[in-house]
Amino acid sequence: MKLDSKIPDGPLSEKWDRHRFQLKLVNPANKQKFKIIVVGTGLAGASAAASLAELGYKVKIFCIQDSPRRAHSIAAQGGINAAKNYQNDGDSIWRLFYDTIKGGDFRSREANVYRLAQLSNNIIDQCVAQGVPFARDYGGQLSNRSFGGAQVSRTFYARGQTGQQLLLGAYGALSRQIAAGKITLFTRRDMLDLVVIDGKAKGIIVRNIVNGDLEKYSADAVVLATGGYGNVFYLSTNSMTSNVSAAFASYKKGAFFANPCFTQIHPTCIPVKGTYQSKLTLMSESLRNDGRVWVPKAEGDNRLPELVPESERDYYLEEKYPGFGNLVPRDVASRNAKFQCDIGKGVGETKRAVYLDFKGAIEKHGHNVISRKYGNLFEMYEKITADNPYETPMKIYPAVHYTMGGLWVDYNLMSTIPGLFVLGEANFSDHGSNRLGASALMQGLADGYFIIPYTIGSYLAEVAPGEVNEDHEEFNISSLKVEARIKQILSIEGKRTVDNFHRELGHIVWEYCGMSRNSNSLKKARKLIKKLREEYWENVLVGGSGQDFNQSLERAWRLADFLEFGELMVIDALERQESCGGHFNEDYQTKEHEALRDDKLFCHVSAWEYRGGNRKPKFHKEPLTFENVKLTQRSYK
Ligand SMILES: Cc1cc2nc3c(=O)[nH]c(=O)nc-3n(C[C@H](O)[C@H](O)[C@H](O)COP(=O)(O)OP(=O)(O)OC[C@H]3O[C@@H](n4cnc5c(N)ncnc54)[C@H](O)[C@@H]3O)c2cc1C
Repeated sequence: MKLDSKIPDGPLSEKWDRHRFQLKLVNPANKQKFKIIVVGTGLAGASAAASLAELGYKVKIFCIQDSPRRAHSIAAQGGINAAKNYQNDGDSIWRLFYDTIKGGDFRSREANVYRLAQLSNNIIDQCVAQGVPFARDYGGQLSNRSFGGAQVSRTFYARGQTGQQLLLGAYGALSRQIAAGKITLFTRRDMLDLVVIDGKAKGIIVRNIVNGDLEKYSADAVVLATGGYGNVFYLSTNSMTSNVSAAFASYKKGAFFANPCFTQIHPTCIPVKGTYQSKLTLMSESLRNDGRVWVPKAEGDNRLPELVPESERDYYLEEKYPGFGNLVPRDVASRNAKFQCDIGKGVGETKRAVYLDFKGAIEKHGHNVISRKYGNLFEMYEKITADNPYETPMKIYPAVHYTMGGLWVDYNLMSTIPGLFVLGEANFSDHGSNRLGASALMQGLADGYFIIPYTIGSYLAEVAPGEVNEDHEEFNISSLKVEARIKQILSIEGKRTVDNFHRELGHIVWEYCGMSRNSNSLKKARKLIKKLREEYWENVLVGGSGQDFNQSLERAWRLADFLEFGELMVIDALERQESCGGHFNEDYQTKEHEALRDDKLFCHVSAWEYRGGNRKPKFHKEPLTFENVKLTQRSYK
């Protein structure tokens, strides 16, 4: 199968407008005849469902949590980018496009990223109209702050709760349609399979996680907005329910998985403390606007930070990257923090941390200004660590945060299975090999509010509504397969808990396929994952039954997928013999330890096709062409 990205012709700035004009339309009176399933109620899913129902389609929406408002998007702290250029500091759609393409180390599509930059401004207008309480300046205009990888202030924010406020906006729009009877909401449902009939996505199988029932739902198209897979690493900043299962089930039904090895590591997380920790907490990147990153100049310096004089501190980011200073992109900041710790300059009990210091900012701007900007983040930090960041520097260390890989989609956000659309973090996204701060919220909302309403219509215009229903035998086949797998998991009755296996898998992928890797470590990871997977199917212990609320079973299902998916990540990392963005292979680096891309051989999207059982997935390549920007070595010096 040849991958067709369906990028429209014409000049970059006109592609989306031309495309929208060429897309087929569904007659307004016919829209109500079409049923659409949306899986996921985060920013991507909620915005998509609300917009599609507003257009007149009949929507069913599903999530794991007891309320759409508990989707992982709620956790987003720092902000959302848009090229409004309110303060005339030189921003433009072109600059946002350029920064994003460059930040992703030239491993994303020009046309998609340009469209993203264009739509960014609509998102802000839409959210303001919904009542999202963005921060404002003294004159009442929306306020902005900077984020890593940009030299302009373009990040709109609502204190440290931007995701929560945006989600409340989308949830309001969703609720309006639920009340109007256009959307039916199904909470506490876990999508375990995609139903494909005659090659097209026509429905899903979900497990009702309260009573264990398997339920079947048919539709004319399925929209997946199920978020990222960072929890394959066990420890991450993601919510505990973030998982790969819905995407992986779709992969097994024919949707290609793109760039699975592209993981983003975030530089400003609270460091790991103990063995039994299950979650890492992010401190928003916006803190690097005012906080200064440093370590003691001398290796093994154990003094309290207050006792280390200025002359003995190494502000290594400001020193090495004077142009961007503490605001270098996340991959650069993360690698440099790890490097400082590796050479013995790490601080704190574990020595796997660097300081993020606000003393200077508080002296300059005052306690109140800093507290207005970051107060809730400081409180959160103090609650977790018992250190007061107003008085002593925060300790931070990189952690897994976001996944740029995901199901492959074309310009219309359709996967390789016709009728299966994938939005938000679940698709392979417009971020390339690295995501700049504040661009995931932008992408999820662009997908949901402004792209899918057009593109799904064009697909549906050629479909006869209600072609199949749940009585079709494919629903039965899928449901029986799911039931059999549940029974198999429950029948093992081994000795090791799901968490115990997951912790080991997390350790393998972090150590050998994490922030930095090399070809040998990847080969080792592949062997270890295979072995662990074999042991899992012989020795996992899952109590209880499949007929009731059983969180151990839920986690066991997800882990079974992670154990297969982890290997796919490693296979993908082995194929990509270069370093780019957040993907750093030590075998490919410059003399200054920066990522060394190979544009001749690897300027492409890697897409993997499932071939069943233990067979290696088939590799497909989508070449990336750059007509409007010149590929340059990324430098933030
Ligand atoms: C701590 C933190 C801070 C962040 N801060 C920022 C920021 O400041 N700016 C920014 O741009 N980005 C930020 N991000 C990233 C951003 O929040 C996410 O990428 C984005 O919110 C993902 O949205 P989504 O709608 O794609 O998925 P999610 O919000 O993850 O939603 C996934 C949905 O899918 C459902 N689901 C998943 N699997 C299944 C299944 N099998 N069956 C049924 N339902 C399922 C879930 O119930 C949920 O409703 C942050 C991320 C974290 C972790």
